[in-house]
This record gives sequence, structure tokens and C-alpha cells, in this order.
Amino acid sequence: MKILVTGGAGFIGSHLCRRFVNEGHHIICLDNFFTGSRDNIKDLLGKPGFELLVQDVTEEIALDGIDQIYNMACPASPPHYQQDPVKTLKTNVLGALHVLELARRTGARVLQASTSEVYGDPEVHPQREDYWGNVNPIGIRSCYDEGKRAAETLFFDYHRQYGVEIKVVRIFNTYGPNMQRDDGRVVSNFIVQAIEGENITIYGNGSQTRSFCYIDDMVEGLVRLMNSDKAITGPVNIGNPSEYTVKELAELIIELTGSKSALIFEALPEDDPKRRKPDISQAMEKLHWLPSVDVRDGLRETIKYFESQRR
Ligand code: NAD
Ligand code: UDP
Repeated sequence: MKILVTGGAGFIGSHLCRRFVNEGHHIICLDNFFTGSRDNIKDLLGKPGFELLVQDVTEEIALDGIDQIYNMACPASPPHYQQDPVKTLKTNVLGALHVLELARRTGARVLQASTSEVYGDPEVHPQREDYWGNVNPIGIRSCYDEGKRAAETLFFDYHRQYGVEIKVVRIFNTYGPNMQRDDGRVVSNFIVQAIEGENITIYGNGSQTRSFCYIDDMVEGLVRLMNSDKAITGPVNIGNPSEYTVKELAELIIELTGSKSALIFEALPEDDPKRRKPDISQAMEKLHWLPSVDVRDGLRETIKYFESQRR
């Protein structure tokens, strides 16, 4: 198949590209390198079937003969998506519009990387797909949350209005190799701080929770959703329901790295969601998908990756 992965040089996108190249597909990796890196795809450059297209998704995508599109392009870390919020909103909305137009023109099936952030600071727990969310429309996270919500709307309207084959996945916090050291998300920050012997920066009192999914499980879930029956449009939650407080995560990383780093407590960013945990019954039922990597094992692999990056 000819598969387009937007954001293909980023954390999740690069794992998708590698899997598809290994499976013998023709891959077009589209990226503007805002948060992605050439290092993430350096083993793929020059391989048969792998093509890099340096482009911004806010511009129209002039490609032909595409079978599948994974729309992953968008900075995912709060400090990065808040750096240029107007651009983040454009990436989400115009990016969605451009991949949908491409799908409409070529007949490709298109998957949207949506997010648990569409639930905002959720008032129901765990979050099911039929929960409409609790999102601040004017806060500092809105460019991302509302951008992703508008993108979901566009996907469903293109599906209803033009019959485009869509798949919408709500991704919960995912971690693993190929995250950037300076990405700013909690797992990469804590691991880098722990192995460098720096203070571990807990925002707030660390009682807020997240549920962490290892990258291999995520990639498997995305591929299963993309290749599922045409009638399955989603939205489908993909994530690991094992829930940790941020403080528990810090302690676990200290234990696994054997670090002597101290925990320090800094201000909690505005609108930081208090609890987050996916209800994955739909993924289990419709995709026969379950996460299989224990958080300790996934963190060990991620620690190894960041240690290898130091040398
Ligand atoms: P990432 O920041 O590592 O990767 C995003 C990629 O998109 C980067 O390579 C970046 O350069 C590229 N990009 C950004 N803006 C672009 C633009 N305008 N045009 C072209 N390329 C652009 O993030 P990630 O963790 O790999 O996330 C991938 C997708 O999954 C994102 O859409 C994100 O919102 C979604 N998601 C991720 C998580 C997670 O925990 N990793 C959770 C929920 C949703
Ligand atoms: N966080 C933290 N220290 C850090 C980075 C993040 O305590 O160095 C917290 C952050 O406030 C949030 C949680 O960890 O409560 C997850 O943050 P992340 O940016 O990884 O993802 P998101 O908030 O988008 O789920």
C-alpha cells in the first residue's frame, strides 16, 4: 500500500513509518520538523519504499494514489503546542481539512490522531467515548483541545457529507523511545532528570493522575483501527488504563533508574487535568486490542533509550 504519515518524523509517527517500511509498504513521511527529528527516521532514509516530504500540513497536500493516511502532525507536548497557539490551531484544523480533501480526491482511508484532551478536565471517570468532555474554550490548552475537537468534527462531516472513510482515535498519554529529550512531557522530563541526577520537577502536589501507554501497544492499536471494518469510524480510545499519580510515576522512575534525584514541587500549569484514564471497552470489543506492555517494562525500555542518547 501507499501510506502517508503526517508528522512521520515525530515520536509516534516515526514508529508507524518504521513498521510500514518493514512490512514492505511505500511510505510518504510528511513533516515540517517542528517537534520531530531526522534522527527518529535516519535508519529509514534511503530505504526502498521510504520517501520524506518536508511540508507543512497547513498547506494543501498535492499527492496521488494514496491508500491510507495517518494524520499525526501536531505538537503534542503542552510547552510546544503553547509556544505558537495560533499555529497549533491551524495545524489541527487546516491539517485535518487537507488530509480529508486528499482522502476525498484519492479515495484513501484516513485516520485522525485525536486525543484524550477532547475530554478536557473530565468530570466522569474513566472516560468513555460517549462523554462530551469538560473543555475550557479560551484557556492556554484550548488551541490544542479545541483544535482536536474541531478536527474530529471535520472528520465526521466529511464522512457524512462526502462518504470519506474515516477512523478517529483518541490517544491517551503515550511514551517510549524517540521522544525528544527536551520534549517537555512528564515521562521524558522525569527520565532525563533522573539519569542526569537533576531535581525531578513535579507540577502541583503530584496527586493528578495519568494513564501511560507504551508505544508498541499504541502502534498496534492504531494499525488495528485503520484496518478495521469500514463501518468502524470511532472515536475509539486507545491507551493503557493503569492509572498513576504523577508523584507515583516520579518515584517509580527513581526506583528503576537508581537515581539520587530529589523531588521538587513547582506551580501547576493552568487547566492541568486532574484525572485521566481511558475506558477501553470499545477497543477491546471492536479491535480485539489490549495493551500488553507493563508500565515498568515500558519505562525500562524508555530509560535505556534515553541512556543511549547520552553517549
Ligand atoms: P510529536 O510532537 O513527537 O510529533 C508530532 C510531529 O508532527 C513532529 O514530527 C512535528 O515536527 C510534526 N508537525 C507538527 N506540526 C506540523 C505541521 N504544521 N506540519 C507538518 N508537520 C508538523 O508528537 P507525538 O507524541 O508523536 O504525537 C503525534 C500525534 O498524536 C499528535 O497529533 C498528537 O496530538 C497525538 N497524540 C499524542 C499523544 C501522546 O501521548 N504522544 C497523546 C494524544 C494525542
Ligand atoms: N508534569 C510534571 N512535571 C513535568 C512535566 C509534566 O509534573 O516535568 C505533569 C503535568 O503537569 C501533568 C502531567 O505531568 O499533570 C502530564 O503532563 P504531560 O505534559 O506529559 O501531558 P498532559 O498534561 O498533556 O497529559
